[in-house]
Order: sequence, then C-alpha cells, then structure tokens
Amino acid sequence: MSGVFEHISNDGYEQVVFCSDDQSGLRAIIAIHSTALGPALGGTRFYPYDTEEEALNDVLRLARGMTFKAAAAGLDLGGGKAVIIGDPRRIKTEELLRAYGRFVETLGGRYITAEDVGTALEDMDVVKRESRWVTGCSHTYGGSGDPSPVTAYGVMNGIKATLLEVFGSSDLKDRTIALMGVGKVGYALCGYLVKEGARVTIADIDVDNLARAVGDYGVATVPLAEIHKQEVDVFAPCALGGIINDDTISEFRCKIIAGAANNQLARDELGDKLRDLGILYAPDFVINAGGLINVEDELRGYDRTRALSRVEGIYKQLQLIFTMARERGISTAQAALEHAQERIRKISRIRLVRVTEFGPLSTHHN
Ligand code: NAD
Repeated sequence: MSGVFEHISNDGYEQVVFCSDDQSGLRAIIAIHSTALGPALGGTRFYPYDTEEEALNDVLRLARGMTFKAAAAGLDLGGGKAVIIGDPRRIKTEELLRAYGRFVETLGGRYITAEDVGTALEDMDVVKRESRWVTGCSHTYGGSGDPSPVTAYGVMNGIKATLLEVFGSSDLKDRTIALMGVGKVGYALCGYLVKEGARVTIADIDVDNLARAVGDYGVATVPLAEIHKQEVDVFAPCALGGIINDDTISEFRCKIIAGAANNQLARDELGDKLRDLGILYAPDFVINAGGLINVEDELRGYDRTRALSRVEGIYKQLQLIFTMARERGISTAQAALEHAQERIRKISRIRLVRVTEFGPLSTHHN
C-alpha cells in the first residue's frame, strides 16, 4: 500500500486507523474524514475485500461521502466509516466484534459507528458492550432499530419536494412512479407511495421481495431491464448504486429521479447531463439521509416522533438545493455538494471563536 499518506492528505482526511487482533482475526480500518462539524459518524462495513488496498479505497471513499451527507442534512456530525476485512458469514464472532469495539472506544468519540453492509443491529449491540460510541442498536438496548423505514419516509418526503418543483404540487395522488428494488427501504417506500394514491410499478432481482410487495400493495411489475425506461413522473432507484450511467442516461423517460440508492451517479458529470435532459435529480445523499438522521437522534436518547419530524426536513433541504441549482445555473448534484461544503466552511469559521476561558499568560521566557 504505497502512497497511503499522499492519498489521505490529498482529500483532507484527518485520521486513518488500522486495527488488528490476531486471536480473533480482526483486521479493520477506521477512516475519519472530517470532524469539523462534530464526531465522525458512519457505519461498519464487513466485507471480503480481495486486497487491503481495495478495503482502504472503499473506507476512504465512504468516509468522505458521510461528511457531505451529514453536512447537507444540517447535522452536527462529521464523516467517518469503518471496514472489517473478511467474510462475515465465516469470521464474525463475539470476540471479533468486541475486539473491534475496543478499538472504536480508543478513539474517544471522534468516531461513532453504526450498522452497514455485512453488519446488523445485533452486531452493534455486541460492539456496544465494549464501546460507548455505537448507534443504530436494537430496540432491546434502547436503540432506534432498523433505520430502513425511516429512510423510506425521508425519500417519500423528498419525492414530494421534487413533485412540487416540477409540477407545482407535492400531491402524490395519481402520480406514476417506477420503483427499482423493493428491499428494506424500497418495500417501505412502496407502502407509503401507495397509501398516498400514487400508481407504482416495481422491479426486483429477488422474486420473493417482488412477490411480497405485489401481494401487500397490489402494484404492477415490469422486467428488470425495463424499469428505468418507464414513461413515468418519477423513477425511484432503491437497489444498488451506479444506475445513472453512460448506458442508461439516454434511456430514461421520466421527469424526476428520486430514490434511496447510494451513489446513483456512476460519474459526477452525469449530474450535468440529467440537467441538460430536463430531468430533475434529487441528490442521493440528501434524499436518503433519513437513516442517518434517525441514528443521530439515538445519540440524544431516541424519540421516534422527533426523529420522523426531523426526517420530514429533507423536503426543505431539497427545496433549498433546487433553488440554489436554479440560481447558480448548476446541476442539483453540484448544488448539493456546494451546499455541504459551504456549511462546513461557515460552521468551522464560527468555531474559531473560543468559548473557553483564557488562562493567565505564561511569564516564562526562553
Ligand atoms: P436491501 O438489500 O434490503 O434491498 C435492495 C433490494 O434491491 C433487494 O430487494 C434486492 O433484491 C434488489 N436488487 C439488487 N440488485 C438489483 C437489481 N440489479 N435490480 C433490481 N433490484 C435489485 O437494501 P436497502 O437497505 O433497502 O437499501 C437500498 C439502497 O438504499 C442501497 O443502495 C442502500 O445503500 C441505500 N440506503 C439504505 C439506507 C437504509 O436505511 N437501509 C439508508 C441510506 C441509503
């Protein structure tokens, strides 16, 4: 892994910690991108990376993304992320998770962890036995539970903001929506949309998930390859990232793209392309921040009603970004990034004002 320091300092990372415990087989990397706004919060991904380099690149990329997500959501949180290298089905044990918890604890709250791909609520309950700096625990331990329905609630509110921007009304009734992926978030979103009177069409690679949504909500289905080509008001990607790519960009027949999936744009420039095509894009890290807002609320002593009401704020955040994009003549993706960066700059500046008392100046001279 040559050039690690260069890589880290180029993108302004604060700290990267390599954690190893031979006995339990733990090999983890914790990346803190920024604590300018507050402690760096981000989940722990447990994944069988082929190489250490791949793990490092992933954790760095994800930690940076969390900085912007928290900043755009108006939270007092920084950005961080952790990866544990290995196949969770083979090596995940109580010993390993607790060893990991010890390392999280050594950071004294600079990094706060949560669940992510390959880790679950129950794993966070175990990590919490060794560290105070864990969120997203199960209800049994006073936690906020699975964040997915809250994420879906935020996406539904975000879709309403996009409808207002494009059609002048946020009403979902009779709006047509193509929903890709009815997993944890997509399924809950489907329920919200149907309840509000939208006409939803879905596709999923998993036949059980597909059947569950059709059975529960009576929605229509289309083949997987057709879902993003539907002539609808909204295309809502809720599966994997990269759905807006060089192949799909010319195939969209929707007026809006607004969904939960992370990293929807395969390349940043495709945000400009969507703008040229007259498709309104709800930047992913803004519209899908409900889960993050939910776990942040847990740090205050979880209150579901308060968390949901704060998640409704995604509507206003998106309005702000759409206005900014219009006024500056830039894409919504670019506006979201600029909004996050500007907030980090402004809040960092006011924190230069010292609020601690000054002590007596030293009289010692060299
Ligand atoms: P999930 O694994 O529960 O659901 C994903 C669904 O997409 C599954 O039903 C899966 O079968 C389906 N899928 C996978 N590949 C597909 C394909 N090629 N075409 C169609 N369907 C496909 O995951 P989730 O928790 O619902 O998350 C969905 C997306 O939202 C992810 O990108 C995730 O990173 C993002 N996200 C989730 C949360 C959260 O709170 N869970 C928060 C923020 C962002």
